[in-house]
Parts: sequence; structure tokens; C-alpha cells
Amino acid sequence: EERSLVDFCTAIIDNKYNASYLPERQILLSITGVEVPVSFDEKLVSHAIENIISNAYKYSSEGNIYLDLIYEPNRVIINIKDTGVGIPEEDIKNLFQPFYRATNTSEIDGTGLGLSIVKEFIEIHGGEIFLNSKLNKGTTVSVILPIA
Ligand code: ATP
Ligand code: MG
Repeated sequence: EERSLVDFCTAIIDNKYNASYLPERQILLSITGVEVPVSFDEKLVSHAIENIISNAYKYSSEGNIYLDLIYEPNRVIINIKDTGVGIPEEDIKNLFQPFYRATNTSEIDGTGLGLSIVKEFIEIHGGEIFLNSKLNKGTTVSVILPIA
């Protein structure tokens, strides 16, 4: 069944985040390309974006978080961007391994499991996840979902 991923993300953002966070810590949604209804697993998408958003808040002390939905002919990309502590380049390749934590976040609580579980689920559903980051500048996590 196909439905609007934009509406789905908007509901999560409005209900779980923006109403209870400071005005300068909002999640700002934007859409690139032409929105089409898509078929997606609601549990998967909500689990993935909530995990990634929780990291975005946890690993940044200020600033808004940007959620961009990019529609391409055969896929939709969900980008979640923060302006937080970033990740050292040498740690990036290991971050999706269970229990791995970047060397610059040891004072912040975490088990290192969130992203590894998200990656497992996304890949079971035929999607992909990757991450771009610059130390002390911020991080963008990208989830790619195929469109049938
Ligand atoms: P939890 O299991 O509670 O999610 P965690 O946040 O430490 O613990 P992951 O979500 O798997 O675990 O993230 C792994 C590591 O990747 C983090 O410990 C942190 O070092 C780094 N990381 C993840 N997201 C970000 C981000 N947005 N900015 C900076 N570092 C990040
Ligand atoms: Mg986490």
C-alpha cells in the first residue's frame, strides 16, 4: 500500500519532537524533487528516523536538525543533518558495527548499538544507510529506500 512519507515524517516530527523542544532545537523538514506516494514499512522507518534523530540531538548541543526527503525516480533518500560534534574520519567506517563508539563521544552516554540495529533492519528491507561527517562541524545520516 502506498502512502505519503512526507505526512508520516511530519506526524513523527510534530508529535514527538517539535512540540516539546526549544524553538532553536526544532526538526525542519524539506522536500527535494516531486513527492510521490511510496510503499514503506512504518515500523522500520519510524524506528530508523527516531534513532538517527536521537543521535542528532544527543551529539549536538545547539541548533536545528534538518530532515530532507529527496525524491528520485527509483528511490527516496532521507537525510538527517545536525551541526554537532561530528565524527573523526578514522571512526566513520566502523560506526555501524555493534558497540562501536567514536573516540570523541566517550563522555556522552551510549551503548553503540543504535546505528548497527538500524542498518540491519534497513538492509533487510532492501535499503541502504550511510553517513557523512566533519569533526566539530556536523553529521548527515542518509537512509535510502527503494521505490517499487
Ligand atoms: P545507543 O545504542 O544508545 O544509540 P550510541 O548513540 O553510542 O548508543 P549509535 O547510535 O550506534 O550508538 O552510534 C554509534 C556512535 O556513532 C556513537 O557512539 C557516536 O560516537 C557516533 N555518532 C552517531 N551519530 C552521531 C552524530 N549525529 N554525531 C556525532 N557522532 C555520532
Ligand atoms: Mg544512538
